[in-house]
Amino acid sequence: MNATLDLKSYIRDIPDYPKPGILFKDLTPLWQNPAAFQLMIDELAGHFRKAGVETIAAIESRGLILGSAIAYTLKTGLVPIRKEGKLPWKTVRVSYDLEYGQATTEMHVDAIHPGTRVLIVDDLLATGGTAEAAVKLVKELGGEVAGLAFLVELGFLKGRERLKPFGLEVFSLIQYD
Ligand code: AMP
Repeated sequence: MNATLDLKSYIRDIPDYPKPGILFKDLTPLWQNPAAFQLMIDELAGHFRKAGVETIAAIESRGLILGSAIAYTLKTGLVPIRKEGKLPWKTVRVSYDLEYGQATTEMHVDAIHPGTRVLIVDDLLATGGTAEAAVKLVKELGGEVAGLAFLVELGFLKGRERLKPFGLEVFSLIQYD
């Protein structure tokens, strides 16, 4: 493992995707590289190794890519947080505002037993709306949020500030200010 690997250099900027004005962070070149992928998982999982995490709540869709590997590394379970209508069983749901319009995200009602320590994982923290909805879902099910882990944080969108009222640990490996 090359601990000095510059993960940022593997992230590709795509201007005006998926709509004009958005600079999309394409993570696929990073995931394509075996050493970069392994470093990403080792660093994110390593940060929370002593946090008593019992399950990973991974946010669809790119959060599932990181979340499953972190769950395997930490030897925890994994539960998905998915977009409305994707989960087959009974769900709890939270709606939140997007830049344009609204989104609804769901978890199975029995995904988390009360008191379980849950690490929420997504690929990227932008405005924090998605992560905030995830925290609300986990709490609604009685879970205890052990923290939130992201590969990338877009600091200028102030997601960290939005999450501040919850008093949770927010950890990201790569920041853009
Ligand atoms: P937000 O709710 O604003 O924090 O947005 C976070 C979610 O939107 C994450 O699941 C990301 O996958 C996605 N996202 C938002 N902005 C970007 C961006 N510039 N590049 C890549 N993904 C993004």
